[in-house]
Amino acid sequence: MNHEHSRTLYDRALSVMPGGVNSAVRAAVEPYPLFVRKGVGGHVIDADGNRFVDWVMGLGPLLLGHDLPESVQAAIQRTTSEGPMYGMPTEVEIDLAEFVVRHVPSVEKIRFVNSGTEATVSAVRLARGYTGRNKIVIMEGGYHGAQESTLVEGDTENPRPSSAGIPQSFAEHTLRVPFNDAEAMTALFEDHGEEIAAVMTEPILGNYGIVHPVPGYLEFLREITDEHGALLVFDEVITGFRVGGLGCAQSHFGVTPDLTTFGKIIGGGFPVGAIGGRAEIIEHFAPVGDVFQAGTFSGHPVTMAAGLETLQFAAEHDVHEHVHALGDRLREGLSEIVADQAPNYTVVGTADMFKVVFTREGPGANGLEGVCSGGCRQDPDCARYDYCPKNGGDVTRAETERWRRLFWGRMKEQGILLSQNQFESQFVSYAHTDADVEETLEAYKEAL
Ligand SMILES: *Cc1c(COP(=O)(O)O)cnc(C)c1O
Repeated sequence: MNHEHSRTLYDRALSVMPGGVNSAVRAAVEPYPLFVRKGVGGHVIDADGNRFVDWVMGLGPLLLGHDLPESVQAAIQRTTSEGPMYGMPTEVEIDLAEFVVRHVPSVEKIRFVNSGTEATVSAVRLARGYTGRNKIVIMEGGYHGAQESTLVEGDTENPRPSSAGIPQSFAEHTLRVPFNDAEAMTALFEDHGEEIAAVMTEPILGNYGIVHPVPGYLEFLREITDEHGALLVFDEVITGFRVGGLGCAQSHFGVTPDLTTFGKIIGGGFPVGAIGGRAEIIEHFAPVGDVFQAGTFSGHPVTMAAGLETLQFAAEHDVHEHVHALGDRLREGLSEIVADQAPNYTVVGTADMFKVVFTREGPGANGLEGVCSGGCRQDPDCARYDYCPKNGGDVTRAETERWRRLFWGRMKEQGILLSQNQFESQFVSYAHTDADVEETLEAYKEAL
């Protein structure tokens, strides 16, 4: 496979951009990333003309794949040609807001911003402003974008910034606990209950191993936050309009948070974020309330049109059925391959998300009778239950050089593009086909 053009472009990029990229994870591929020329359906074609089955799908936003349906394209083109933006309100913002309010249980009102990061920044500020408290609880292995309040590592006793450039004093307001650990959360609320503004979590950890909640965990979070007057924030930037379809993960799990952050799919492939929730809380945003929040590009008409038409298309077609069915087929096929070739590995994912995590322990090839074949669901009756990652620490223990140095490249050589690091989810789109799935399973068989 020839990558001359990508190499040349990377060389140029390195001279003018740090690491040659505009987002850190893109450079994870060694020795250099593939530069994309264009997308076609469920495939991408790189700068050298190589064609791949693309499971990166923009890292989440491209529910419909690379070829947008007529209605979506028309809306984008019309909105763009009429003038891209105004700094004044437009009707399409209301249309998309109404759509979200109609479909997502927790959302009575919503504010649109320009990225998932901006959404979580604003949600944290809102939670603090609303409750008058400072502390935010997050999960190990959770990801909420590149922002000061959540780029924190260490435990609740010793929180410290996980990035240079963030004052230690910021990190002190962030408490990090293991996902799926009710005891740790209970202890934390016993010590700090009065100071906690919010617990913010992805309903499923989607950026780090696709960790499913154990039965009852999200319900537990709902109860303990209610008990202590803290807000429950679901970061549905990944799961939103994906897990549980248009009702999002909160309707799938039947747990309604106070606030929800959105991004990715909701902008139909354009930069977007949003914070939705109970009207009484959202109204604390300026200009009604005293929590300042603003943005030149917020509610951008082209993004709003793309998001609205994408979601409307999904409402009127079998989009979620299609991506969930292919997701099931992938996870079931991967479970069979893994049982055969690498019985310690864990197949994870749900809906249209999938990944194989290179865990090092399991019940052994003979103990796999009756395991969750559609990806780990944290079912206590499953033979793999004790071995499936439950939190960020478990995921970290599955890290291996093999994935990065050998496995990813072997998949790529077979024309299959997986997400750039070993724990970030891969996504099925409406444009993917049965043939893409079969080709991918064959490639896994070779590469695992
Ligand atoms: C992608 C992501 C973010 C950050 O969104 P950006 O648009 O990249 O800023 C936040 N939270 C979760 C759960 C995400 O997956």
